[in-house]
Amino acid sequence: MGFCGDAVNLEKELGSLLKYQGVLLEIKKLEQQAAVLKTNAANESLREKLLEKSTELSSCLSKSEALHRDRKRILEEQSLVVKRLDQDSSRLKTTAVPRDAISLQHEIDTLNRRAAILSEELAGLDAEIASQNEIHHRIEKGREDLERELELGREAVKLELEELRTQHAADKKLAEELRSSISDELLVEFDRLFARGVGIGALRKSMCGACNMTLTSTALNNLLATPKDSLLHCPECGAILVRE
Ligand SMILES: [Zn+2]
Repeated sequence: MGFCGDAVNLEKELGSLLKYQGVLLEIKKLEQQAAVLKTNAANESLREKLLEKSTELSSCLSKSEALHRDRKRILEEQSLVVKRLDQDSSRLKTTAVPRDAISLQHEIDTLNRRAAILSEELAGLDAEIASQNEIHHRIEKGREDLERELELGREAVKLELEELRTQHAADKKLAEELRSSISDELLVEFDRLFARGVGIGALRKSMCGACNMTLTSTALNNLLATPKDSLLHCPECGAILVRE
């Protein structure tokens, strides 16, 4: 493709175009970084852990509730046993019938055994409740730590995104400025090439800066023989070449 313009202008425009491409690539990179930040893996795993903690906490709470229900049942039975023991003891003191006395004594013994079992159960239950409380506090503490960590993580992401946005806006502006300094003819050519990958590269010695291929000496000689006011293209990748 021919290029209408003088060699000096073309060189200037190609320099701008190369810079323009650099800014476009930077913009793409920033957008990818922002996308990665938004689906931040570390924060996502913290959120999952937090969810696990909440599940742990609710199962711990229902366990505690069950223990307290058991404790209430034992206390109720204990007071019934005490009441019956009182009744039986006073009846034992007043009865004159030996058979009744034996039967009452038998019941008192049974009630005392039951009272002992209930006391033991209560002690065991209290120990379980105490350890359950400890577990509860530990989970609660873990959840608070995770919440704090997640909050910090979110804050860090927010700051990083703000930085990216600022950089992105500056790059967009620079890209617009550079684009406005390049002729439409050259832009049409570049846009077509850039949509497929790299649109322009510097020719360094015999290497194309767009595809990094080393050109054959024949190809290179052909390129160097082209007038300076004509566009050069890499015979390997088709990108516009800038003479250095
Ligand atoms: Zn190339």
